[in-house]
Amino acid sequence: MGSGERENVLTLSATDLALCQRCPRLLAYKDAGRRNAWRVGIEGSGKRYGSLFHKHVAEAFFSDMGETAAPGREAMRLLLSGTSKGLSEGLSDLIRTRYFNPFLAEHGSRLNADCVMAMADGTAFWVRDLAGILEAIPSLRKDPERGLGRVFAGAGRTLRALYSTEDGTMLKVSGRCDALIFNPDSGTACLFEFKGYRPTDPTAALSQSLIYAWLVESATGVLPSVRLIYLEGGGPFAFPKEDVASMLRGLPPLFESARSVLLRRKPLPAPASESLCSRCPWDGECNKEWGARDFSLSRVPPESVPVSGGTDIGGGSLEGPLLEERAAPAASEETEEGRERMKQLLRTLEALKLSVTDEGFVCGPCFVRLKVRPDATRGTTVRKIEARADDLQVQMELPVLPMIQAQGGYVSVDVPRTRRQVLSLETLIRKGAENRPRSEAAFPLGMGVDGRVFWADLAEPAMTSALIGGTSGSGKSVLLRSVVIGLLLCAPQDSVCFTLIDPKRVTFTDLAELSALEEGRILCDADEAMEALGGAVDEMERRYGLLEKARVSHLTDYNAASGERLRRRVVIVDEYADLMTHKGTARKLEHFIQRLCQKGRAAGFHLLMATQRPDAKVVTGVIKANLQLRVALKVASRSNSQIILGEGFTQAQCLLGHGDMLVGDGACVERLQGPLAGPELLGSEHWDVRRR
Ligand code: SF4
Repeated sequence: MGSGERENVLTLSATDLALCQRCPRLLAYKDAGRRNAWRVGIEGSGKRYGSLFHKHVAEAFFSDMGETAAPGREAMRLLLSGTSKGLSEGLSDLIRTRYFNPFLAEHGSRLNADCVMAMADGTAFWVRDLAGILEAIPSLRKDPERGLGRVFAGAGRTLRALYSTEDGTMLKVSGRCDALIFNPDSGTACLFEFKGYRPTDPTAALSQSLIYAWLVESATGVLPSVRLIYLEGGGPFAFPKEDVASMLRGLPPLFESARSVLLRRKPLPAPASESLCSRCPWDGECNKEWGARDFSLSRVPPESVPVSGGTDIGGGSLEGPLLEERAAPAASEETEEGRERMKQLLRTLEALKLSVTDEGFVCGPCFVRLKVRPDATRGTTVRKIEARADDLQVQMELPVLPMIQAQGGYVSVDVPRTRRQVLSLETLIRKGAENRPRSEAAFPLGMGVDGRVFWADLAEPAMTSALIGGTSGSGKSVLLRSVVIGLLLCAPQDSVCFTLIDPKRVTFTDLAELSALEEGRILCDADEAMEALGGAVDEMERRYGLLEKARVSHLTDYNAASGERLRRRVVIVDEYADLMTHKGTARKLEHFIQRLCQKGRAAGFHLLMATQRPDAKVVTGVIKANLQLRVALKVASRSNSQIILGEGFTQAQCLLGHGDMLVGDGACVERLQGPLAGPELLGSEHWDVRRR
């Protein structure tokens, strides 16, 4: 048992406290010997590589650094004294050869390619981060032996501290964090925690680290900053010590709860949210054992809520101060607008002798979706409502035709909002964290009316290439730019590169200095563009040769098996109609498109073709057959809409422009609002790192 009682002193571990944070009653169950208690509410992919990585790579490294005679420490000492260049490369070699490769040799056969890749990624961004921290300690270079002893003084140490609760009971807490580094020059410290999988609730994941931070401060007098490193899902996420100090204000209630549990003071506190109970085997039983649950008592007081969700400084996600959301209309304002629009709709339909029932409404970023159910017994059908779109526009004083679509159980009538919201790319990435695919080729395409973020994943067979059409003012160029920026922000570092073809010379101007450009610049000339596409086809074939030799079927497996890092190549052609003006070029272009679309996915090639003239001459049968994902922004006519989205999907002419779009796969469509990668994001340090 991790907890016990003796002479008014209760002992418990940091992991007990983290469990108590999830639900105090789970700690009681664990204390009563129920072993599965700690699993309740744990998220994860089920793979154990987080702990394997921690034990065999990170912990092995840190413990060597704390041992004067360890060979790893001697190698580190030589590294620090031998070169005045950046540490990153040398440290990377040291960790790879001494810790990571031996680990793979021993355990690699039991891991699949995804695990190996996640661990390789995790190691890479951890090493970069660690090198940055060590570089900032000048005394390490001056006297490496003494410096290493001081910097890694916390390695492998179990920390203990006492906490006096309100009734005078003492809690004796102990724990050992994954890694701790001191900076003797600045008198600061940094605490690392390694996790396999990034949970959807970062606050819960932080709780254990905060307890360690408290232990470090109690034992040494130095409050550390915290860095969470997720092997999957990005990181490191850095929490400066000011944020840690603010979050520590939430600990006293936790200690009080733990005391109640250990002393069995019934009713025991319940978790802050009921949602955990539905996943708990004791749902319904714990009331009998520990007293009636009162969820309101465990709510964390507002001043103890973390001030930020952490800043991702090297991986594939964004949170924290960068993501200040723009002021959105108040909920009451939205409700009023929706209610008013619904009244207008019902009045108009009644006047048109179309009988419907009110099924509610929902407000999206740029339109209100009004839901009505046609009363078939009185002869009202979907077709009859659709046929009255013009009347609805006039009577409801709408600037555009309302978009009317049959949905499961109702008909949706989308009308523009009076005050449209700007949706930033940062907000989209943050809000989409919950349903973000675990893929290195995913980017957020837009937000649905229900607030759900739609992620496009180029690694998915149905999305590996895309056709994007929209007239001038539809937001096509903004969308293409946000695809590039979104991919760079979400993909692991150095895993993706681009060929950007822009005959109009205006779409990608501010991306001209991206280091991820395969050709080193934006291609504007038709000959250059055709040459680049031909080169991409050749490279794809070369990669197929490599896959064959390595006996693997996919780029990801190849990278894992060979240790090489072949990047995904995303080819984006804006206004490709300009490349189809001559018959010969058009045929060649179609040939390249066909080859890249049919075989590109396994070799890591993806193609996004955009046009503002989605007519039959430009969107030929070959192109339509090969580009799976269809994105229609506002277009000029119903037929343009059908050419992009497929037979029967005529609604893109009713879109509002500026990123309002329909996304489909030929069988069904979904309406989304695309994001804007604004100047705040492009001026941020985070983007600067990614850009370079
Ligand atoms: S049912 Fe809910 S309150 Fe009871 S032990 Fe499980 S998580 Fe805690």
